[in-house]
Amino acid sequence: MTTMPEAAASSAATQSEDIILEVKNLKMYFPVGSGFLSRKPVGYVKAVDDVSFTVKRGETLGLVGESGCGKTTTGRCILQLYKPTAGQVIFDGQDLTSMNTKTMRGMRREMQVIFQDPYSSLNPRMTAGNIIGEPLIVHGLVANKTEYRDKVADLLTNVGLNPYMADRFPHEFSGGQRQRIGVARALSVSPKFIVADEPVSALDVSIQAQIINLLEDLQEQFNLTYLFIAHDLSVVRHISDRVGVMYLGHMVEMAERNEIYRNPIHPYTKALLSAVPIPDPVLDAQRERVLLTGEVPSPLNPPSGCVFHPRCPVANDTCSQILPELREVETNHYSACILSTGYGTP
Ligand code: SF4
Repeated sequence: MTTMPEAAASSAATQSEDIILEVKNLKMYFPVGSGFLSRKPVGYVKAVDDVSFTVKRGETLGLVGESGCGKTTTGRCILQLYKPTAGQVIFDGQDLTSMNTKTMRGMRREMQVIFQDPYSSLNPRMTAGNIIGEPLIVHGLVANKTEYRDKVADLLTNVGLNPYMADRFPHEFSGGQRQRIGVARALSVSPKFIVADEPVSALDVSIQAQIINLLEDLQEQFNLTYLFIAHDLSVVRHISDRVGVMYLGHMVEMAERNEIYRNPIHPYTKALLSAVPIPDPVLDAQRERVLLTGEVPSPLNPPSGCVFHPRCPVANDTCSQILPELREVETNHYSACILSTGYGTP
């Protein structure tokens, strides 16, 4: 069986032009101090612990898991908003983790982020036009005021807003419209890759579909690649080509979208999927429910062996002693569970 880093390495070697992002053995540990005056860490919050995956050019990788599973930290490490504790982030063939600040500043144009909360992520004192146009000035992408205004008007149109709205302030927009402004700002520097960090979680269900459809249209129009982070498997289903499931800093399953919904292998994915409502009441009544008990353990003191074992409905005695690796159990379908892979690190 192939592990995810091995698969990533061989796939990157054979189809390097198709791989835009490669994350290798990424770790992000946050030090925890003992008190106000002490700088010496007494422990580490293992927010991301040895995560590897690749993203192909033009695809959407959905990253899901409960809050605190490390998906947002993974996104921030990719964007180098956090300096990873260990591991590599290779974007378009360049290792971002070993890049100096000046070179990284240039790379930031290529990688943008859409934030979760459209209410707090926009500066209330700036007009929509200035919020969208600010990156154009920061990166020196416009030569004069006319070009600036035209570009901002184009960006507003691209996200379904009217150019005359450029002079309005964030409080004059609805939640969905504010998120469209956030999308336009991310698009302004013509990025190749966007981390969409729970971009619809703060919106009404009726608006969520509109923003997801907008992101899909823009992806096609501008050949964008997305890392789409969500806590809900039903949200990523529509937009993702592949889905990765994270639990307590580890990637526990990854597969093509249809495969993971039709044939979930990891007990945690099964539990998450069994909580997703099905519109058909007959099918909904027939399906097996997997109820998880207890809370997600603290990443400051994660359980030994498989980190899911205290909540896993099918755990056995070995599970607390062996850390299962993410391994290919079916073609392009990876799982980190000893019941499916039989592999692990004692
Ligand atoms: Fe459950 Fe054990 Fe598999 Fe972990 S390794 S998911 S505890 S069965």
